[in-house]
Amino acid sequence: MTDGGRNKLKDSRRWVVKIGSALLTNDGCGLNRAAIEGWIAQIMQLKGRGIDVVLVSSGAVAEGLTRLGMKRRPQAIHELQAAAAVGQMGLIQTYETGFQKYGMHTAQILLTHEDIADRRRYLNARSTLRALVELNVVPVINENDTVATEEIRFGDNDSLAGLVANLVEADLLVILTDQQGLYDADPGRNDQASFISSARAGDPALEGYAGAAGALGRGGMLTKLRAAATAAKSGTDTVIAHGRAENILLRIADGETIGTLLHAAEMPLAARKQWLAGHNHVRGSLTLDQGAVRVLREQGKSLLAVGVTAVEGNFKRGEIVRCLDPEGRAFAHGLVNYNAEETRRIMGQSSDRIPALLGYVDEPELIHRDNLILL
Ligand code: GLU
Repeated sequence: MTDGGRNKLKDSRRWVVKIGSALLTNDGCGLNRAAIEGWIAQIMQLKGRGIDVVLVSSGAVAEGLTRLGMKRRPQAIHELQAAAAVGQMGLIQTYETGFQKYGMHTAQILLTHEDIADRRRYLNARSTLRALVELNVVPVINENDTVATEEIRFGDNDSLAGLVANLVEADLLVILTDQQGLYDADPGRNDQASFISSARAGDPALEGYAGAAGALGRGGMLTKLRAAATAAKSGTDTVIAHGRAENILLRIADGETIGTLLHAAEMPLAARKQWLAGHNHVRGSLTLDQGAVRVLREQGKSLLAVGVTAVEGNFKRGEIVRCLDPEGRAFAHGLVNYNAEETRRIMGQSSDRIPALLGYVDEPELIHRDNLILL
């Protein structure tokens, strides 16, 4: 049975797995290490099947409150932020120890929504995450709660997980929670409530269901639906499922009909191009030689500095520039990896000269093909 795209999940290769606070903690008695070890074991099996996993984990506030002996969640945001700073230590220690048993390295990444919205920081975070995945490391991401409060106030990392799915161009976002998935009414109050096994991410009708379930607020169903809509912008499907269901991650990978699948309407590439096209604030232009025009147009390759003959404008790393053919006609635009001054220094040169010319390398390409759209 195909069931609205479940079979497609069997071919997915890059997952973002988000684990919520309610699952990670032992009813207010610190982190549930046994449960965490269970997910780690499953993630290791997924990796064995060739699936890369980026983890987004909450639980820092909850663990911090336990460590500080606070029985109740304080109202003051700065106290919650302080608790997160304390608890993050325990959270990361638990993942590190758990993955180390398999000889797997982990990396701590603390992000804010602004880091992903800002073009330069977006590129930096994306490059680091790609490098970590290539090094076969499991990144463990949380909000940087010391400087940002979006997730403490509303999201329990749901919206951050959606943004991370965009950042790493995940095939699948799995949101593990303490509910089976989405119902069209509150199953606790209405025995007619029916389970939604699959739907289109971003379908406005779904928000009414989340509201009906009374799940508004911090990390409720509504923030999960919105995270799925965000993830769909990069063509990422989302599954919302119960994190304590046995072998939940493996069953999702097997295409089993479990949890709620919110599928992205667009194919990843089309979605990504649309997302890039939305960022059409062009800050400068690069004139390319005929050879570079040909490889970009006909072979879908990245733009290298060697193919650039002129640079116009005063753009920063991560801003959008226009690519012109030798006759000055615009034929593409994309996110540039070097600022205008650096680009002037490396233009016409081969990529292996970049370290000598600049003293560092951000990326070997001037514009990566994933970040380039032909007009
Ligand atoms: N980023 C926070 C954490 O990891 C969100 C959860 C919360 O506010 O309790 O703890």
